[in-house]
Amino acid sequence: MTAEIIDGKAFAAGVRARVAARVAALRDGEGIVPGLAVVLVGDDPASQVYVRNKRKQTVEAGMRSEEIRLGAGTAESEVLEHVARLNADPTIHGILVQLPLPPQIDTPRVLAAIDPAKDVDGFHVTNVGRLATGQPAMVPCTPLGCLMLLRDRLGNLAGREAVVVGRSNIVGKPMAQLLLGENCTVTVAHSKTRDLAEVCRRAEILVAAVGRPRLVRGDWIRPGATVIDVGINRIEENGATRLVGDVDFDAAVQVAGAITPVPGGVGPMTIACLLANTLTACCRLHGLPEAAELTAAL
Ligand code: NAD
Repeated sequence: MTAEIIDGKAFAAGVRARVAARVAALRDGEGIVPGLAVVLVGDDPASQVYVRNKRKQTVEAGMRSEEIRLGAGTAESEVLEHVARLNADPTIHGILVQLPLPPQIDTPRVLAAIDPAKDVDGFHVTNVGRLATGQPAMVPCTPLGCLMLLRDRLGNLAGREAVVVGRSNIVGKPMAQLLLGENCTVTVAHSKTRDLAEVCRRAEILVAAVGRPRLVRGDWIRPGATVIDVGINRIEENGATRLVGDVDFDAAVQVAGAITPVPGGVGPMTIACLLANTLTACCRLHGLPEAAELTAAL
């Protein structure tokens, strides 16, 4: 039997449609248009693509998009000035500083300067702490998207054995916190973990966020497990460039109960969750009820 393929693209389209419907209702009912500002420093090609997609989907959802593009040599003080201005701008509800930043800029200092209420990436220490202590937070978009997919497939996650491979601040750690919040038994594995294969074999829920093409082999997967592959790795194969995940998909699909493909799995959920977070931030900043149809997905 082969695994169910989790269609993140279709799920993300549903999230975006629910966001767009609520945005239209906010505009018509309250005269409020959620605004998202993206700050891009330098010319990292992957970042350029992300930022272009974010802008397109923000506008398609009926939100206002502001883009601030700064040269690779921009001083940290100038970035901080932009953040301060956006913090004070009542038409902006979400601020995202695209990472990675050039080396002359202290990333934690810039992230700490963003108003936590507008921190739609959820990287500010206040939001990290809120998530860790079970308080309402802005939750990082990629793990939030993974959780939505898991909840959609598995319903209540309480008591499940979950393994997260990778401990980055962007994906692995917040993913582990979210799964803990769902009452899973969570193991976080990383580059120093001994016998990673054996650790992975415990998982009813396996989240791979490593950045190593096809690291997770088919025989590392517990039969019937739900596998969420966050990895996006560009490889050369048979003379062509292609994207693969952190999981050996062709082998895993024979063992898992369900699996996200790459591309078309977690990737599209990230921007959908960014839009959802911007809408949530807008509702909170205006003292309006949060979009129940978004949290219902959780
Ligand atoms: P990162 O490099 O910050 O962290 C990688 C983690 O993997 C580290 O914690 C490290 O300890 C662990 N690791 C490295 N080698 C390992 C090994 N051999 N065995 C076990 N653990 C190992 O990466 P990240 O930012 O968390 O991203 C991880 C992957 O997810 C990348 O491929 C990235 O492109 C992708 N990603 C996708 C999205 C999306 O929208 N789908 C968003 C963010 C990141």
